Amino acid sequence: MSCGRRSPRSNYWIETVQSEPPPDVSKRMLGQMSQEVDAVTQLVDELHELSQIESGRVTLKLAPTTIEHVVERALERIKPQADRKRIQIAAQPQTKVPPALVDADRIGQVLLNLLHNAVKFTADGGQVVVKTELLTIDQSPAPPIPADHASGIWVQVSISDTGIGIPSQELARIFERFYKVDRARTRNAGGTGLGLAIAKHLIEGHGGRLWADSAEGRGSTFTFTLPAA
Ligand code: ADP
Repeated sequence: MSCGRRSPRSNYWIETVQSEPPPDVSKRMLGQMSQEVDAVTQLVDELHELSQIESGRVTLKLAPTTIEHVVERALERIKPQADRKRIQIAAQPQTKVPPALVDADRIGQVLLNLLHNAVKFTADGGQVVVKTELLTIDQSPAPPIPADHASGIWVQVSISDTGIGIPSQELARIFERFYKVDRARTRNAGGTGLGLAIAKHLIEGHGGRLWADSAEGRGSTFTFTLPAA
């Protein structure tokens, strides 16, 4: 998307409406323009947010937080979207975990983003599961936990879907800003390609890590860790 001038598509819609076509055509073009405005607004908001985080201007409001409650709230918010695709979405009951020292709003935002992707990249009738576990890391963590993960006691949250998956050679790149896997495959999925870059920064800002595992065609699991309070 170019910033300084309108895209050929927007030009076409605007010129069509200016030529006073039949009302149903005008209505359709205005609908398209409204979607384009939403996409540009989202892009600007997310770019602004990423630059704020990267320049250290975002202060995390840390407090001991029951992560299961943050998960429940995020699940409630994503449910209507999952229902529209008949995707079963739920938290898998695990053993109780201690509270984590986090900014609950920011972690809610990360969870919502990962759940949104899980629903977006999973076909109708699929499944999304969220697990919360306690993780103790001693010296050298075993894969898939990143080798340089700090030791200590962590609350680990994973979001697994039965969706299209991510080819292994692309896994490391999806956290880069604007990176999208195989644009042709996900042409109508929308999104800016900034969500995972923002999520990674926010998790690392809490001292944790975010990573992904996937089997192409079978699904993906995104996992992040948060310091136990
Ligand atoms: P966006 O979703 O806006 O494109 P993200 O930064 O959230 O941007 O994700 C980057 C890319 O990673 C997506 O475009 C998609 O190709 C891939 N991706 C993210 N989550 C999933 C998922 N759950 N299943 C398959 N691919 C995914």
